[in-house]
Amino acid sequence: MLQFRDRPIFVTDTSIPYGAQLPGSAPAAPFYVPPARPGVGGTAYENSVIDVLNRIERQAVGHLLLSLIPVYYPVLIVKMTDEIANALGTSTCNAATIMSRDTIPLPSGKALRGYSKMAYTPSDSQECRKGPGTRPDEALFHELVHAYHRAMHGGLNPFYSITGTISGNDLSDFGNLDEFQSILVANMYISEYSSALRRDHKSSATLPPELSTSRAYCDAYRPSIKLLAQRQRRLMNLLSFLTEPRFNPLRAYFSDERRELYPTDFLPQ
Ligand SMILES: [Zn+2]
Repeated sequence: MLQFRDRPIFVTDTSIPYGAQLPGSAPAAPFYVPPARPGVGGTAYENSVIDVLNRIERQAVGHLLLSLIPVYYPVLIVKMTDEIANALGTSTCNAATIMSRDTIPLPSGKALRGYSKMAYTPSDSQECRKGPGTRPDEALFHELVHAYHRAMHGGLNPFYSITGTISGNDLSDFGNLDEFQSILVANMYISEYSSALRRDHKSSATLPPELSTSRAYCDAYRPSIKLLAQRQRRLMNLLSFLTEPRFNPLRAYFSDERRELYPTDFLPQ
């Protein structure tokens, strides 16, 4: 098992049945995350995932998200095996995230209990789907947004379904607000190096150019963005400050909101 830098993100090549409850190892501190350990001696799989995490960390949106993963609800990344993919269903590609209450012993002798478990294999991505959001780091980043969300909202995360049509796009193709959020934030990440953004969750089709600007997207998807701004304020607000992503509908959204809050040049005293 490797830890990614000093982040509460772990990668293990040890086969762990997805969703299985492992034998409890009586953790002394359930939410303890050990001090940083240099990532040495990992397996080929573990090192390949660490490489992808390093790539994510180098971008502004990636760095921000990884810095917000809380130590009290870490991430454990395991291989996406055929067994896991079959158990999760045909819609699962190369990556998926669940909450777990398994107990996992860590190299330090402590244990993880209560964390996001992610099944992910970098090399499978392009064989599974093509299009925006399917590059190995993009697919993992998408899952890390889910992991952050679950850490913040625990088991009480209601899946808001979103419906309606915007510019000919069926909103139900997002599935739910959770997926809308992961796709929005991943699109911001992608926009640091590419103009081709992902349209929805059902497919990996490209977002039409007329919706690919911050302003157009903000205006078109305002009700869903507003829900996120209310429910996931910390992440959304911090993302809105970033200037690196070309695509930042949150900057547009909060700019509008702050204008409404402060209609004059005078801030509240
Ligand atoms: Zn997702």
